[in-house]
Amino acid sequence: MEQLIENKLIKADQTFSEWKKTPFEERQKLIAKMAGILKSNSEKFGKIITKEMNKPISQSIAEIEKCALMMNYYADTDNILKPEKVDSEYHYSEIHYIPKGVILGVMPWNFPFWQVLRFATPAILAGNTVVLKHASICFGSGNAIEKIFWEAGFAEGIFQNLEVGHKEVKEILEHDAVKGVSLTGSGRAGGEVASIAGLNVKKSLLELGGSDAFIILDDADLNEAAKVGAQARLQNCGQTCVAAKRFIIDEKIEEEFLPKFIEEYKKFVPGDPMNKETKLAGMARPDLADDLENQFKKALENGAEIIIPLERISANEFKPGLIRVQEGNPILQEELFGPLGMVMVAKNDAEVLQMANDIPFGLSNSVWTKNKDRQLFFIEGLESGTVNINRMTSSDPRFPFGGTKASGYGTELSLIALKEFVTPKTIVGN
Ligand code: NDP
Repeated sequence: MEQLIENKLIKADQTFSEWKKTPFEERQKLIAKMAGILKSNSEKFGKIITKEMNKPISQSIAEIEKCALMMNYYADTDNILKPEKVDSEYHYSEIHYIPKGVILGVMPWNFPFWQVLRFATPAILAGNTVVLKHASICFGSGNAIEKIFWEAGFAEGIFQNLEVGHKEVKEILEHDAVKGVSLTGSGRAGGEVASIAGLNVKKSLLELGGSDAFIILDDADLNEAAKVGAQARLQNCGQTCVAAKRFIIDEKIEEEFLPKFIEEYKKFVPGDPMNKETKLAGMARPDLADDLENQFKKALENGAEIIIPLERISANEFKPGLIRVQEGNPILQEELFGPLGMVMVAKNDAEVLQMANDIPFGLSNSVWTKNKDRQLFFIEGLESGTVNINRMTSSDPRFPFGGTKASGYGTELSLIALKEFVTPKTIVGN
């Protein structure tokens, strides 16, 4: 391992021995300070995101603002990590929550600030220190985040950016100083990193892909569902784990809904990412655009029909596409991480549910119906970490975020995330 990297791991470990003794409320003050820096510089940091991965600038600014909101949530939260008394016959009868130490974050490019801070904020508030391996196209974001931590007054070893490629992750994770890992990204990367963590008996948390259903039943507000559905698919150029990827439509309203949806969908036209009016820009990398184009071809070869063609207009830009897919098409087992949506039509609620669950993933789903009984049917039946009723999926710091099946394990956001990288220590006896 490069000496510079090893030095950073050692520094993170040494800093941990002080940071873990810092009172929770003191840690919260620094987090609040950092939230303020993010909020008042959202445009400056947003530009770094847009330059690195092409996200339309208005969405990059919104990402920074959401980071500030999330950090303020943790800055104001109750300390659920203080020692807990357990009712028992013993004199000592307590649980103490002990931070684990240095935690490695392996993070992706699709939300270069949000993914990092969503993981790092609760981990650090719980008393851990963090080292970051950011996506190779996002080292500028990683460095900017590191500087913001320092500017807010965090000691240098609390959050450090390691500019390394993915081949170096194994050695870093195997290092004695590192006690756990959180990865957001593809199933392939997640599987490899979790197996290294497992062999070394270190905790891992995985937030991987999804193929969320956006379900439109016959009593839904169709205008609203069409508008929100297009945004849910095409925001961030479709490169979101919880984007709506499969639109499952009740056959009774197919004819009425589809034209409205197509109209909304066509409002997303590629433009200059630095222009504040732009809603859609290029994908993050040309190879990701190649992957999407290949998946489009594969879907068609297996019987999918074109509703709107996916048109490549440059190395990384598309005019968004929409295809009708029948059950059994192997493309349904894959994640489409770009501006291509799938439409499916179902006869009744039971068939909708069966289609929605018939994928390897289980991240989130969105159901559009005004009927309470139908809402409950889907709330109970959908095999995903989140169910949204009459709204698109977008994470909220107050609620847990995580998946079932191949979408990963572990919880991000909410108070539950504070307990992901701690050991509950039992103190019992007389
Ligand atoms: P990756 O999973 O390859 O990248 C995500 C992060 O993991 C990056 O930091 C990457 O580093 C790192 N990484 C990649 N391979 C390994 C490995 N073997 N060991 C350790 N770390 C690794 O995603 P891609 O950028 O290639 O995107 C491919 C697909 O992954 C997308 O099309 C999408 O389906 C899914 N994805 C899901 C995301 C989500 O939010 N759940 C986010 C991004 C992608 P480096 O950049 O150096 O390769």
